[in-house]
Amino acid sequence: MTAIELVQGDITRESVDAIVNAANSSLLGGGGVDGAIHRRGGPAILEDCRKLRASHYGKGLPTGQAVATTAGNLDARWVIHTVGPVYSATEDRSGLLASCYRESLRVADELGARTVAFPAISTGVYGWPMDDGDRIAVETVRSADTAVEEVRFVLFDRQAYEMFSQQLR
Ligand code: ADP
Repeated sequence: MTAIELVQGDITRESVDAIVNAANSSLLGGGGVDGAIHRRGGPAILEDCRKLRASHYGKGLPTGQAVATTAGNLDARWVIHTVGPVYSATEDRSGLLASCYRESLRVADELGARTVAFPAISTGVYGWPMDDGDRIAVETVRSADTAVEEVRFVLFDRQAYEMFSQQLR
């Protein structure tokens, strides 16, 4: 049974085995959580990302997949990068968003991570409505077959935190 915890704050301040990054497919950094992780984590993360790009993801990391790198200066052992789908009002991409959570947990299991922190994937620049993104996050983690002991959702602002708490009840 995986315990689910909620925290309001900056995910780069968390102390866990693995921090999940809402990356973009280039793996070369971006804004939002991605920017914050690279800023605080330092250049070692980008260096690892560049190597992964060269060895496996020349065309980019596909949406819904996940891959791990060092966590650099973060208080974690790994960063797990996953690429969320851009929200679409006309096409149902929720399977891809669920896949981000599931694949990140699969990678965490491979690494032997026991505690994993997630941001609310796709709910920033990628436009996913928080009250739907939180449902997919919670349902997917609850039904995941994983050895991860604790999943911590780290929500940047009060409103997102409240929506997640609502979803957990
Ligand atoms: P995406 O491109 O997947 O939408 P974003 O980084 O733009 O990713 O946003 C994802 C979510 O992460 C948003 O809800 C945003 O408010 C939140 N966020 C941004 N910075 C941080 C941070 N440092 N820690 C935790 N959450 C953050």
